[in-house]
Amino acid sequence: MILENGVVRTMDPSLPVARSLAIAGERIAGGVGAHETALPTPDVVDLGGRCVVPGFTDSHVHFPTWSLSQRDVKLDGVTSLAEALARVRAHPRSGSWIRGTGWRSAEWAEQPAKEALDEVTGETPTVLWSKDYHSLWLNSAALARAGGDLEVEGGVVERNESGEPTGILREESAWQFRARFAMPSEDEFVDATREGLRIAASRGVTAIHDKDGWLGAPGIFQRVAERDGLTLRVWQSVPFDRLAELEALGLHAGIGDDYLRIGYLKGFMDGTLGSQTAWLLDGSGVCITSGEELAGVIRAGARAGWPVAVHAIGDRANREALDAFEATRQEWAPLGLRHRVEHAQCLAPEDLARFGALGVACSVQFSHAPSDRDLAERFWGGRLEGTYAFRSLWDSGALVANGSDAPVEELDPLAGIRAGVLRTIDERPAWRPEEAVTVEQALVAVPTEQVVPERGDLRRLAVDAVDDGQTHRLVGDAQHVLGERRRRLRQRRTKQLFRVAHCHRRLLGKRFTKSSTR
Ligand SMILES: [Zn+2]
Repeated sequence: MILENGVVRTMDPSLPVARSLAIAGERIAGGVGAHETALPTPDVVDLGGRCVVPGFTDSHVHFPTWSLSQRDVKLDGVTSLAEALARVRAHPRSGSWIRGTGWRSAEWAEQPAKEALDEVTGETPTVLWSKDYHSLWLNSAALARAGGDLEVEGGVVERNESGEPTGILREESAWQFRARFAMPSEDEFVDATREGLRIAASRGVTAIHDKDGWLGAPGIFQRVAERDGLTLRVWQSVPFDRLAELEALGLHAGIGDDYLRIGYLKGFMDGTLGSQTAWLLDGSGVCITSGEELAGVIRAGARAGWPVAVHAIGDRANREALDAFEATRQEWAPLGLRHRVEHAQCLAPEDLARFGALGVACSVQFSHAPSDRDLAERFWGGRLEGTYAFRSLWDSGALVANGSDAPVEELDPLAGIRAGVLRTIDERPAWRPEEAVTVEQALVAVPTEQVVPERGDLRRLAVDAVDDGQTHRLVGDAQHVLGERRRRLRQRRTKQLFRVAHCHRRLLGKRFTKSSTR
């Protein structure tokens, strides 16, 4: 197959742009030359000037959770308690639970509570996640499942004046409730994930760094792989506290096959902006893991051959994480382990340059900046300088990788790129435009070729979808065709080389197109 008459952005500095791309069997053969055109039946696709880029990597996604959330009551953008209740009432019922996601009550006049929810759900147990997945809103039937057993370390159980739970659980209390009393079955996850893979492919996502290790994602992906194969590559997390088991088995990072690899340990320093549980330098917020504890995890991980990814939102959480990476550097740096901070949202300005200096990656979400702008100004007003400072991080030499944090934001790499470049998702002008990245930077941050060393997640998909007619038809009206990097292709002998995962119909927008061709 030959893709011609377009702009092929290889993301490879040795040949950044080509006008055409030839795919021979299972390999990208390079630009079009005598050899390729001499193929017996070259399929030729006229790109009509459209752009070809490598498949997208989503560097932070809770894939099975996101997949399942596609079936949930959607509470995003709801501006009042009454509106939330109306959506729950109207949602078609299926299964024995009502599940929902996306509420954010900071601006609501009336706060969520179990009584209000009971009126629309009756006896059906109901669990509604906040947009950041750090708070859970339950009705009485769901609360009853716990029999009052709600308090856990690192958790918050909201109570009314008489000491009775209001139905709002935060942090560890919320997650423990779900794990103990409200887990969807593995079959539900497998089913939803199969559907999720189709949606991801339609959006050009060919690799993910999954964060759902805690709920058994490796087993879910394995079942999907055995049943119909995976259509994206998974670089999988495992929670910190499972390290001993990995160690006992003698496993180190990278175990798996080309599509599914267990790659890193994951944990949390703190909560989030939306739940006001981010750990800040003024002492407010929730500390889930202290810097000292993290240093212990990093050391133990290094001994067993595992890099660490740690969620850190507040400026204190980020500082403690950086201190821990710095204090343990001699133990992990010689091993070539690539650690990462997930989110890195609010940074003390003096900490910005430490990521690049230490070689700790920033796994950020471009989309969070414009969608959090109002909350950030409200809760972090005095500390905006180092907040969502993607461009400053980039310029300081940090390795910046972008992800969606789906289901917190939609799994949509183009939306992420737009958010990173435009810093707005509505009619308002860019929010702190000095922190916008260029299109080129955004594209590099999205495929994140560089985040994980060679062996890991970042080789792209196999060839089988290229010739399936379906893809061919899509190419005809595409804006983007997603391919593999040429350099890697030349190096590789076997399969795994290329898949036109998807071709996008949506334009990135006029402003976007202009700056991308500067
Ligand atoms: Zn996340």
